[in-house]
Amino acid sequence: MKTKIATSESIESFLNDLLRISHFKDYCPNGLQVQGKSHIKTVVSGVTASLALIEQAIELNADAVLVHHGWFWKNDDPRIIRQLHARLQLLMEHNINLYAYHLPLDQHPEFGNNAQLAQILGFEIQGQSKENDLVWYGKPSQGSRKKNLLDIRERIEKKLQRTPLVIGDDHQPIKKVAWCTGGAQGYIDIAANLGADVYISGEISEQTSHAARELGIAYISAGHHATERYGVQALGIHVAKTFGIRHIHVDIPNPA
Ligand SMILES: [Zn+2]
Repeated sequence: MKTKIATSESIESFLNDLLRISHFKDYCPNGLQVQGKSHIKTVVSGVTASLALIEQAIELNADAVLVHHGWFWKNDDPRIIRQLHARLQLLMEHNINLYAYHLPLDQHPEFGNNAQLAQILGFEIQGQSKENDLVWYGKPSQGSRKKNLLDIRERIEKKLQRTPLVIGDDHQPIKKVAWCTGGAQGYIDIAANLGADVYISGEISEQTSHAARELGIAYISAGHHATERYGVQALGIHVAKTFGIRHIHVDIPNPA
């Protein structure tokens, strides 16, 4: 396969098409958020465009940073001051491009966070909720052995390297799982409407525990960062292959 020429523009249009960004109404701009140098040899991927990630990218000689959580969110202060100023100044001093893909990356059938999490946890994907297509559902595994909540909890702990917070009874059988990566605990009623035995997302709110008990569904809070590490990583690998460039994933630890 002939590789494409890696420029700021060619990578942007490749990613925008692949992730079908025009199909999404999002809280932030998707695509190239900050323009940097034209020729790209090294891409660093990470979950969030934090200062620590930018510092690592500079050390790794990156020409572009690819993230799931970029900048310029709908309710942000639009001024370039304080935290954003520090991040932006450092990025621009080094002429690094910043690409960010939020909902389009959650949803992509192959490189998306939901798809990648299912693969890591061994879930068989069966579909997406008609009420809200960010909530996916499926079987807990391809194997025939019956699963209970304890099996799912232990698998998450092992694969994501993080102790999840679990609402429910360890011995309850799990035939159907629903999941949405990130801060999607508010969709628990959608997971219950799907008839799922457990809903897995990244965070938990005070009311999530009550909702789980009252809706009769188990809930697992597996970490916002921990559930969203895999989409951007898979995307970075794919970009590197397509353009014949170097990709390095940097995991900036985050307990949330
Ligand atoms: Zn997120």
